[in-house]
Amino acid sequence: MKIAIVGGGVAGVFLAIRIKEGYPSFSVTIFEKNSDILKKLLVTGNGHCNYANLGSTIGKYHNDEFANNLLKQFTPQDIVQTFDRWGVHPEIVNDLVYPVSNSAASVALILKKQLHKLDVTILCEQPMLDYQKKDDQYLVVTEKGSYAFDKIVFAAGGACYPQLGTDGSIYNILEKHHYKITPLSPSLSPLKVKENTKRISGQRTKCLVSLVFQEEVVYQESGELLFKDDGLSGIVILNMSQKINMLPNKDQVKIVLNLAPNNRITNKDNYLEYVNPKIADYLVSNQLDINNLVFSFKDFYEPKVAEVSHGGVALSEVNDSLESTKEKDVYFCGEILDVDGMCGGFNLMFAFASAEKVKKSIGG
Ligand SMILES: Cc1cc2nc3c(=O)[nH]c(=O)nc-3n(C[C@H](O)[C@H](O)[C@H](O)COP(=O)(O)OP(=O)(O)OC[C@H]3O[C@@H](n4cnc5c(N)ncnc54)[C@H](O)[C@@H]3O)c2cc1C
Repeated sequence: MKIAIVGGGVAGVFLAIRIKEGYPSFSVTIFEKNSDILKKLLVTGNGHCNYANLGSTIGKYHNDEFANNLLKQFTPQDIVQTFDRWGVHPEIVNDLVYPVSNSAASVALILKKQLHKLDVTILCEQPMLDYQKKDDQYLVVTEKGSYAFDKIVFAAGGACYPQLGTDGSIYNILEKHHYKITPLSPSLSPLKVKENTKRISGQRTKCLVSLVFQEEVVYQESGELLFKDDGLSGIVILNMSQKINMLPNKDQVKIVLNLAPNNRITNKDNYLEYVNPKIADYLVSNQLDINNLVFSFKDFYEPKVAEVSHGGVALSEVNDSLESTKEKDVYFCGEILDVDGMCGGFNLMFAFASAEKVKKSIGG
C-alpha cells in the first residue's frame, strides 16, 4: 500500500508515524512545500509547544461536536501517552500540556527521529500542484514529476500564517476538484476596533472581557489584554476572535472591557488604583468608564498574524472515517478541515485526533 501525505506539518507528520507504527509494510511519502517539515510546530506556544489540554474540550471548537467525537476516540490522555512513548514527556500547567524540555524545537527533532527510524520518505520543496486519478491510483503532481499512490491524505493546513507555507492555495486545488470550501477568515487573531487606541498602544492590563452580540453577552473571559495601534490583542482577545467568527452579523459585535472587575468605580480620581497612569489618563480624558469600556469590532487582523483559519473543507465532504464522500481513497486531517479551536492546545489536539482517525481508516 502506497500512501501520499500532502503537507509535512503537525497532522501529516503525526499521521506518517502512526501509520508506520501500525502497518510497517505500508510505504508513506510526505510532500512538503517548505524547505523543511514541521516549521509551524516550532512557533507554537511561543516556541514552547502547548500540544494538549487535559481540561474539558466541550465548547472549545467551531464544529464542536465533530471535533469532540474524534477526541472521544483518541483522547487528550492518549495524545499525551503517545508523545510520552516517543520521548516527549509532559509538563502540565493548569491543564495545559507542554514538553518537559519546554521547547517546540525538541519536539520537532524527536518527531523527525521517529520518521527516520520508520523509513518515511520526505520530499521537501515539492508542493503538490494537482492530483489526478489514474486507474486505481492517484497521481500526485509536483514540478519535479508525477508520483502514483493508492491513497492520498490532505494534511496541508489552512489559510493563515502564509509565511510558513499555509497560504490557502491548497483550497484552490481542491475547489478545482469540486470540493466545497466554507468561507475562510483569520481566527485566534487580534481584533481591529473602530475606536482610536493609538494613545495606549503597547499597554497591557488584566480585565474581564465580554463579547456582546445584539446587546447580549455571549462569551466572557478574564485575562491579560494588550492594546495595539488600532485594536486589541492577548489570549483573551484571540479567543474572542474564534467566537466572533461563529457569529452571523459582525456589525453588531462589541467587545466590552471591565478593567476593575471586582469593584464598581464611580469616582474617576480612583482609576489609578486599578490601571496604570497611561490607561487611566486615556479613560479620564475620553470620559470612558473603567467598568464598561466599549469597543466596536471592525475586523480581524491579516492572516499572517492569525494562528489558525476559520473555515476550510466543509465537513459534508468527509464521512465518519474522514474519507472524502466524493473520491474513494482520499482523506483529510488537521486544520485543512472546517474546524478551529480556542487557544490552549486545542488546535494541535484536533490535528492529532483527526490524523489518528485517518490512520485507523486507512488501516481498515
Ligand atoms: C504562532 C502560532 C502559534 C500556535 N500555537 C499553538 C499552540 O500552542 N497550541 C495549539 O494547539 N495550536 C497552536 N497553533 C495552531 C497549530 O499550529 C495548527 O493548528 C496546526 O499546526 C495545524 O496542523 P496541520 O498539520 O493541519 O497544519 P500545518 O501545521 O500548518 O501544516 C501544513 C503543512 O502543509 C504544507 N503545505 C501546504 N500546501 C501544500 C502543498 N500544496 N503541497 C505540500 N505541502 C503543502 C505547509 O507548508 C505546512 O507545512 C499555533 C499556530 C501559530 C501560527
